[in-house]
Amino acid sequence: MHVVILGAPGSGKGTQSAEIIKKFSLKHLSTGDMLRAEIAAGSELGQAAKSVMDSGNLVSDDIILGMVANQLDDNDEGMLFDGFPRTLAQAEGLDKLLKEKNSEIKHVIQLDVDYEEIIERMLARGRADDNEATIRNRLDVYESQTAPLIDYYLKQNKLTTVLGDGSVATIFARIEKALTV
Ligand code: AMP
Repeated sequence: MHVVILGAPGSGKGTQSAEIIKKFSLKHLSTGDMLRAEIAAGSELGQAAKSVMDSGNLVSDDIILGMVANQLDDNDEGMLFDGFPRTLAQAEGLDKLLKEKNSEIKHVIQLDVDYEEIIERMLARGRADDNEATIRNRLDVYESQTAPLIDYYLKQNKLTTVLGDGSVATIFARIEKALTV
């Protein structure tokens, strides 16, 4: 079972992803983590991505799709895609990659959290790319480039919107219900 978790930056995707992969034995694929690993390794890709990430903009679809394609194995039974896809081109690219493996996305979970709540949470988190101007830019980028995926997956009948407020356990219970239907 392949699952996508969709939600604005700071909506709690990372926290819930950790719960989901444990419960459903999925392999976690976070493009944000992969990019940070490239930066830490000082690779050419990491160096190119760093300034884009620091500004809160998106790394190019070609780079992201290339990275993901390298991670997909023929024998992967279940993946959790976290922070990917973030654009329609990435979503279409992912569908194509999976189709080549006679596979497809089963469920898409959209974590729904109020933007003002997100800004508070992210300022409290204090990551390098988490100052207020960058956060607002990341939310704008989410709204214009990633939010259209909600419609894309609704049309495929794969989307469940989950309220992202409450405790980690409360939110996870909602997700678990959506994934077990
Ligand atoms: P994240 O940890 O998922 O919030 O990602 C941190 C940053 O990495 C984002 O603000 C983007 O600059 C970049 N990034 C991560 N995933 C993607 C993606 N799927 N497409 C484009 N850029 C990405």
